[in-house]
Amino acid sequence: MDLFEYQGKQFFASYGLPVSAGEAVTTVDDAVAAAERLGPPVMVKAQVHTGGRGKAGGVKFAADIDAVRTHAGNILGLDIRGHVVANLWIEKASDIAEEYYASFTLDRSAKKHLGMLSAQGGVEIEAVAEEDPEAIAKIWVDPVDGLTESECRRWVLAANLNPEVTDQAVELLCTLYRAYTEGDADLVEINPLIVTPDGRVHVLDAKVTLDGNAGFRHDLAPYDATQPRDEREAAAHAKGLQYVGLEGTVGVIANGAGLAMSTVDVVNQVGGSPANFLDIGGGANADVMAGALEVINNDPAVKSIFINIFGGITRGEEVANGIIEARQRVDIGSPMVIRLDGTNADEGRALLEPHLSDRLMMAATMLDAARTAVALAEGTGS
Ligand code: GDP
Ligand code: MG
Repeated sequence: MDLFEYQGKQFFASYGLPVSAGEAVTTVDDAVAAAERLGPPVMVKAQVHTGGRGKAGGVKFAADIDAVRTHAGNILGLDIRGHVVANLWIEKASDIAEEYYASFTLDRSAKKHLGMLSAQGGVEIEAVAEEDPEAIAKIWVDPVDGLTESECRRWVLAANLNPEVTDQAVELLCTLYRAYTEGDADLVEINPLIVTPDGRVHVLDAKVTLDGNAGFRHDLAPYDATQPRDEREAAAHAKGLQYVGLEGTVGVIANGAGLAMSTVDVVNQVGGSPANFLDIGGGANADVMAGALEVINNDPAVKSIFINIFGGITRGEEVANGIIEARQRVDIGSPMVIRLDGTNADEGRALLEPHLSDRLMMAATMLDAARTAVALAEGTGS
């Protein structure tokens, strides 16, 4: 689960890491009120789940309240790499003498935590890694052993930071490691970690990803509440369906995650583009089928629907009855193609037979069904 910068900073602050005072707002007036409370100069910062906000015009220095008003107005609604800005973080501006980079993440192949530290911060770390890999000091930490202060000190010295801040950096990075492990994060990244002109090491940006599977150990509800959601996904999850929104035009319904993924693949294979992944699970009864069709039907991008069912425990006639009944409940806008196989498939097909038309078709194989669905989505008929 990705946190916004302001949430990442609150997470850091709860472990005692030094962050700037600030307020999260959603309107220009609230941005101005926050800036008045904090006292200018302040930074006006777009809160989106993507990096490079500064370059995209999403991070601005405001010397006075007028500038806060201007920048907040410009940044709210700004599109940063496909993320539209709805939230701002107004924080007390810092003076910067040096900009560093620090992070911890999981190195799965090494089965260890990987810490990266560089005196070349502020810029994208990928660029540093490419142009000057020696400038990034790495440390691999065995999760069982943890990070000792002496190891941390060696790491800091290897990064060639300003020697005057060595002690502070060691303390901050040991604390960052504690936040990363105790907080069950997959990633903590500070870029830039700054040194102020008066010699304080300070956190100026925060990228934090928490492991949702560790939610039982933490209160993730406040972070969960602010996750940007695909409306289609929210509607599907509310119905208990396993749904992932995609960009295409062929609505996909299948039973079982493996078959649903194969269905997405086969639509791509024949040159189409799936609008979604949807696994209706084991019981393809009328309620479940109606719910699935409703979700797909509400997606304006969908031009055809491909129902791919392989009966196992679910029998063919149950599926067929589910589809027939669901069609009576939901006014479906797109033509449907059904591939029904497995347990009692013949019985199921016999039930569907009288309902077949150019709005409801049946195909003998998954590949045929995919071809038909894609042709329908492209408006070239079946
Ligand atoms: P990013 O572009 O998404 O990584 O956003 P950052 O929070 O890292 O901000 C981008 C850049 O803005 C930083 O690298 C800093 O150079 C600058 N910046 C951010 N906060 C401050 C601040 O408080 N004072 C000053 N002078 N510059 C800042
Ligand atoms: Mg940054």
